[in-house]
Amino acid sequence: MNFVRRAMIPCCCGVLLAGLFVARPLAAQASQAPAAAATAAAPAASQSPQQAYTLPADKLAKAIALSRIRNILDIAGSIWGIVFLWLLLATRGWAGIEAWAQRAAARRWVQGVYFFLALLILTTLASLPLDMYGQHCERAFGISVQGWGSWFGDQGKALGLTLVIGTLILLLFNWIVRRWPRCYWFGVWLVTIPILLFFMFVEPVVIEPLFDKFEPLAQSNPALVQQLEKVVARTGTNIPPSRMYLMKASLKTNGLNAYVSGIGATKRVVVWDTTAGRVPDGEVLFIFGHESGHYVLHYIWKGFAGTVIALFFVYWGCAALAGWMVRRFGSRWGAAELSSRTGFVVLLFVISIAGFVLQPAANAFSRHFEHQADVYGQEAIHGIVADPQKTAVAAFNHLGEAWLEDPNPNPFIEFWLYSHPSTEHRAEFAAHYNPWANGGHGEFFAK
Ligand SMILES: [Zn+2]
Repeated sequence: MNFVRRAMIPCCCGVLLAGLFVARPLAAQASQAPAAAATAAAPAASQSPQQAYTLPADKLAKAIALSRIRNILDIAGSIWGIVFLWLLLATRGWAGIEAWAQRAAARRWVQGVYFFLALLILTTLASLPLDMYGQHCERAFGISVQGWGSWFGDQGKALGLTLVIGTLILLLFNWIVRRWPRCYWFGVWLVTIPILLFFMFVEPVVIEPLFDKFEPLAQSNPALVQQLEKVVARTGTNIPPSRMYLMKASLKTNGLNAYVSGIGATKRVVVWDTTAGRVPDGEVLFIFGHESGHYVLHYIWKGFAGTVIALFFVYWGCAALAGWMVRRFGSRWGAAELSSRTGFVVLLFVISIAGFVLQPAANAFSRHFEHQADVYGQEAIHGIVADPQKTAVAAFNHLGEAWLEDPNPNPFIEFWLYSHPSTEHRAEFAAHYNPWANGGHGEFFAK
């Protein structure tokens, strides 16, 4: 899912920011791979005794090394995406492609199709080396078990989706800029809303099945489904067993995960097959409780509303900055006006910068919602599992070990890149959260 979003970043500005807000997997580092061995967590003495999330010494060293690689790739990927757009502006590369498209086709919209196909293919190719290196590392560290053939297959599918959907969206946005040169940002914002809703709705039924196999959870894990129904009853979420799916993640990864996706008629819970049956059911219930929290507490809609409100100001600001850039550098870059194809790349360039700069703000909101969902998850399993505190801490240790999460990430990295609080912070909170002591009750449930 994240994989698809990343692939769509260059093509859909709305999705770019939406990806930072809407439904997310529980694992902070959702990318690839599972770990059957992860169920045998054996904390070692190499971390301070008060840590709630610990790793055995060998895994600790690996986690620190892999986290460093992931962080560098994350930041480098964002910056490289921006630099690449700029490089082809500065060398008049985009202007050259625009001239080629004009020679190649007579109709204006066909020229647009050529130009945007070229733009999407080039930006995808530009990010490919970093993506490949990331996949290489995930494999080397035993997180990903996906072969290169399958991996390139996924990349190809993502590119295909990007080309079809991205070209249409970019043509529409570019047309709006031409049609309403003064207040186009408002028009783009207006059409972004239904586009986002549409993708949230179709993602689990149209996009996710292109990349992974799903089957009813009850088919392989009937006892787990029965347990999950207890949490459903306690939380009042209307998710029947027919909306609970098992994803065959083990074909690609050793990582653990469960998530909720879709809206309305497509809303569903997905548990990875690396998680169901491999970690104790109580921990899956906790993860499910966390995910339910996103829905019960309306985080999906709050996140959506937050995205839409933020985009209003982001588009407005980006339009002003892009307009200035075209006046200042337009002749040098071959972008006569903002409504030209090359001018539109200037707008994409500015939006990419905004996305990067605003990432910490989006992540701060996300971390807040994720923390609330953790609280909710722990309260949701109260009375269903014997010890919610222990269960939650164990779940975080399994998740952290499976993904090789750094137990002590740099606070600045956590602030900038983490959409979830660090595993240590989450486990630490869970270990001390016991509102039922002395007859009290939690924040979200009356008992
Ligand atoms: Zn979450």
